[in-house]
Amino acid sequence: SETRVYQLAQELGMSNEEIIEKMDSLEILVENNMSVLSEEEINQIKELSNEEEGNGDNNLTEIKIADKITVQNLSQLIDKSATQVITKLIKLGVMASMNQEIDFDLAACVAMDYGFKGIRYEEDEIDDEIEIEEDRPEDLKPRPAIVTVMGHVDHGKTSLLDAIRNSKVTDKEAGGITQHIGAYEVEVDKKKIVFLDTPGHEAFTSMRARGAQVTDIAILVVAADDGIMPQTVEAINHAKAAQVPIIIAINKIDKVGANPDRVKQELTEHGLLVEDWGGDIISVPVSALKNENIDTLLEMILLVAEMEELKANPNRKAVGTVVEAQLDKGRGPVATVLVQNGTLKVGDALVVGCAHGKIRAMVNDLGKRVKQAAPSIPVEILGLSEVPQAGDQFVVVKNDKMARSIADKRKDKIRARQMKSSQKVSLDDLFKQMEQGDVKELNIIIKADVQGSVQAVKQSLEKLSNEEVTVRAIHGAVGAITESDVMLASASNAIIIGFNVRPVGAASDVAEKEKVDMRTYRVIYKAIEDIQSAMKGMLDPEF
Ligand code: GDP
Repeated sequence: SETRVYQLAQELGMSNEEIIEKMDSLEILVENNMSVLSEEEINQIKELSNEEEGNGDNNLTEIKIADKITVQNLSQLIDKSATQVITKLIKLGVMASMNQEIDFDLAACVAMDYGFKGIRYEEDEIDDEIEIEEDRPEDLKPRPAIVTVMGHVDHGKTSLLDAIRNSKVTDKEAGGITQHIGAYEVEVDKKKIVFLDTPGHEAFTSMRARGAQVTDIAILVVAADDGIMPQTVEAINHAKAAQVPIIIAINKIDKVGANPDRVKQELTEHGLLVEDWGGDIISVPVSALKNENIDTLLEMILLVAEMEELKANPNRKAVGTVVEAQLDKGRGPVATVLVQNGTLKVGDALVVGCAHGKIRAMVNDLGKRVKQAAPSIPVEILGLSEVPQAGDQFVVVKNDKMARSIADKRKDKIRARQMKSSQKVSLDDLFKQMEQGDVKELNIIIKADVQGSVQAVKQSLEKLSNEEVTVRAIHGAVGAITESDVMLASASNAIIIGFNVRPVGAASDVAEKEKVDMRTYRVIYKAIEDIQSAMKGMLDPEF
């Protein structure tokens, strides 16, 4: 009994085109739907579609390794004993003691042996002179969670942020007038939660591209009458790449046609299994418009926050991140910062990116002057020498003189770094970057005109992985290449591959600015060929 393409398609519940795409990616020659398949070919195709079904289990654990790392620090980083690491090293022909430093390459080899895929090169910190001492565990106190709301356009992100804010603003009685400063705090059961009030994953990812991750929990808003849409998928992938826990807010349950079960079903297709389906993802049906179930959502946020054991030491000099900044006509440079550790006080001298200054005044999200800001609390600060950028880190230092000198040095270094151009991965100089130990993995974002191509390319490219280089598709979707794809590529040091799609909007400009390698193809095998040849140059000599 022969099996033909269309018969296999029927058996697997796929379209003929999907089967043919798969065959393409497996490099099986096929003429048309009537072509007869060999048993081996059938097995290959089945295997490929099985793998695709189970692809929610991506290993997305990211670790950063510096130029040099001690054996002990590496063992902590990858959660193994020092003895295990030393044994691994011996197998690689290296004798090392616990306190000995090994270089990035070797450390990455060890980590990869333990199944780590997201290994990144940690660039030198810009300032060596700012010493941030480690906190003693007994000094750490619980801190509020910082939450970002993400989801598809029009699914109700803004409405949800408004509903939350209106229902729970801290100290409403005191008569403050809510101000948009980029983040706000609410109080639930005497506990605080902080929301970044720029919804969407663009801000989230552009901050991450700049090395800042402030979000502790992501709320994924999905409209119950619309279900999972392209930007929902993007948001899921962004949150996963950042390893941030996700809570699902199934919104618009007041609408006719709302179908929360369908949303849950669709979520499973993206590796998110909600609790009532036996998974561990919390989902809450809400109506942002009718203010329904907002309290439950907030309680769930508190629950997840508690599990995350978010802590900071309020009794130290503050460090944190800028979430928004602009030049105010009357007040000069103004920045909204989130304190990530320590307590920020009026009069503190600080360095923020290339800016410095002494805090003249601080204003909270109710427009009120405050004297200090505890961990996780957003405040607007005045008194900076220039406008910093969102994502810039700030550090409080001894005095203004020191702040100024560090800021000046940073400017010099940044100038020097710009001269050196960017460290972003590109196919053209992959080999060189590999030799320098800068690239151990090749992250890829795939955009195509049809879902079949996305899957086929993802499978074929990931199969190119070998011991030296891991090829990982961190995001794949149908549609044009957008600015958001480019920002994700920049944040994750990925290249973008497009099939029969083009960059739209500001995507090309941003790609150029961020030095993201973006390539478009008409045929799949050409892309695979390109990457294969780039990788051949990448191969390390065997130990
Ligand atoms: P965003 O683009 O995700 O920020 O979405 P918006 O918050 O701007 O909401 C888009 C539209 O959906 C607006 O017209 C809202 O009034 C409406 N909307 C938001 N939440 C709900 C809801 O819970 N129920 C209903 N019926 N409409 C909602």
